Amino acid sequence: MTAVAYLEKLNPDQRRAVKHGLPDGSSAPAGGPLLIIAGAGSGKTNTLAHRVAHLIVRGADPQRMLLMTFSRRAAAEMTRRVERICAEALGATGGGDVLAWAGTFHAIGARLLREYAGAIGLDPAFTIHDREDSADLMNLIRHELGFSKTESRFPTKGTCLAIYSRAVNAEIPLEQALLGAFPWCARWHDELRRLFAAYVEAKQAQNVLDYDDLLLYWAQMTQDEALAEEIGGRFDHILVDEYQDTNRLQASILLALKPKGQGLTVVGDDAQSIYSFRAATVRNILEFPKSFTPPAEVVTLDRNYRSTEPILAAANAVISLAAERYAKNLWTERRSAERPQLVAVRDESDQARFIAERVLEAREAGMTLKQQAALFRASHHSAMLELELARRNIPFVKFGGLKFLDSAHVKDLLALLRFAQNPRDRVAGFRILQILPGVGPSSAQKILDFLIERPDPLACLAEAPTPPRAGEEWRGLAATLQILHAREGWPAEMEAARRWYEPHLERLHEDAPSRLADLVQLEQIAACYPSRERFLTELTLDPPDATSDEAGPPLRDEDYLILSTIHSAKGQEWKSVFVLNAVDGCIPSDLATGTAAEIEEERRLLYVAMTRARDSLLLVTPQRFFTHGKPAQGDRHVYASRTRFIPAEMLRHFECVSWPAAAATGERLARGGLRVDVRAKMRGMWG
Ligand code: ATP
Ligand code: MG
Repeated sequence: MTAVAYLEKLNPDQRRAVKHGLPDGSSAPAGGPLLIIAGAGSGKTNTLAHRVAHLIVRGADPQRMLLMTFSRRAAAEMTRRVERICAEALGATGGGDVLAWAGTFHAIGARLLREYAGAIGLDPAFTIHDREDSADLMNLIRHELGFSKTESRFPTKGTCLAIYSRAVNAEIPLEQALLGAFPWCARWHDELRRLFAAYVEAKQAQNVLDYDDLLLYWAQMTQDEALAEEIGGRFDHILVDEYQDTNRLQASILLALKPKGQGLTVVGDDAQSIYSFRAATVRNILEFPKSFTPPAEVVTLDRNYRSTEPILAAANAVISLAAERYAKNLWTERRSAERPQLVAVRDESDQARFIAERVLEAREAGMTLKQQAALFRASHHSAMLELELARRNIPFVKFGGLKFLDSAHVKDLLALLRFAQNPRDRVAGFRILQILPGVGPSSAQKILDFLIERPDPLACLAEAPTPPRAGEEWRGLAATLQILHAREGWPAEMEAARRWYEPHLERLHEDAPSRLADLVQLEQIAACYPSRERFLTELTLDPPDATSDEAGPPLRDEDYLILSTIHSAKGQEWKSVFVLNAVDGCIPSDLATGTAAEIEEERRLLYVAMTRARDSLLLVTPQRFFTHGKPAQGDRHVYASRTRFIPAEMLRHFECVSWPAAAATGERLARGGLRVDVRAKMRGMWG
């Protein structure tokens, strides 16, 4: 391929975006700001990858490019694409680290913060708390302040964290966060204010950062003009995908790094904004052009390359009823006679069986499992399907699933690494100390109180007030912490950690051998990271996917079905897509039908789900489902009706079918399986 052959594959609008600021024949100066705003599947991400590659081909230094995506997976995928295009154009094999700075906003923030920690009075050995750790710390403080005792209906630790996070990310006062999204908690305003003040204090004393801090401190860093200029100056180009889902802090960081917008490219689709519950605001993308003088160049794309015409027509119909007007007229040349299907099934277990059967049929017909995906609104919606797939030996990977990292033994080992890195991290310390026999919460607390006071806690381990029973074990732990602290090399440190933990694992768990296998897997994952810090940071921010394989994280080369929440499916595509529970109560979620804005976000969510499909789209509508997905808890099922986002007049875009076919259903009914006449209900469903 010649240097410009890759440009010929693009349409004129895409090409304009790729070449923006790079007139033919010039090398790669940083052009003015650019916004690509366009509908699903119109090639935004593809265009961004081509732009990065084109800049490199024209001489831009890839080490001086910052690429921010919505997930680590998306960053890896983008890097691969860029490498491929560059390799073809330049005739060279793409080097391993073409894009040194590609990742999520949070991961990039963590890296920069470690480098510049000193400049803002932060200790660079900070550890990062995931949401669960943050909630645990919030809980600890809640107890300390006595709120959980005096007020039994005080918001839960999770709600407290959500309120805190909202106020921080939206940069709004607590009152406003409460009234806007948590009105039922407004009466605890004063207590919450005290709680949050103590939470912030505790994080600082312990040198831990939560997710929100990564953005907050980064934003704080960029408020110092000289520092912002220095960091911004390290990058000739800053490119952001999925910009519609950034929050105000993220926008303010970008603008501080590139106040004139030189070399800044952002890409997104306002119709796919689905993260307002995390304070993302679509205003960032809409206001981007006006943030600069002269305003940013805007490129819109209107040809969809992903989906067949009937799928696109159905998705367009769904979004056309949105209260917001999204001025996009997507069209495609991919003709097909196959309309998307709306499949009525009795319940979630039939839904699971239906999908498993269809998946196998498709595989028989030559479609790999990896080309198919099952998407759902909430992670627990896939429980039945996971069981069914396991029963039939259909391997699957669940995106963003935490199964592996959630297991106690993996968390123990990670906590040990974190504690060695930062012995003030109380949540990690609590976890590790209580592994020792004879150490309970109160002695753990005493030891941590002692350590936190010392300037160099790891040097004072021998003097810590340990209970006599734990003496021997404590010395073992202290020795391991010293080894880890001495930094003998990564990933060898992982092995030292495992050696310490092994006897405890055997003492604590009956199924130690299989858990040990997980830890060996974890070591293999660790070996893919250049350092302990990067390993801990990236694992905490974006955990690996869970698999049907009990042994742990996905085996990359195997064929497996993708299970994903709609949120995690953002930006991706599959030949065949199943959307589970396309019923009211799930989409829209019954937890998100409070305000008109929430309903609108649920509509966009369905739009995102539908636009993931290339050739085949099936929306499954169980006639009843169990609330919260816990059939074991008894009869808490509810009768469901088709999602309100597909009203009767829209049905012409779909092929409506029932499964199993009506006769088979009748047979089962005759056997007395159900009390209600499901067939009648099913007929009613299409009315
Ligand atoms: P989303 O809104 O879902 O993130 P997107 O706008 O980022 O979608 P891409 O994922 O970049 O879209 O592209 C969608 C599909 O269209 C991909 O399979 C991509 O390879 C293909 N595509 C994009 N541009 C072209 C083109 N000019 N010619 C052929 N195929 C294209
Ligand atoms: Mg995209």
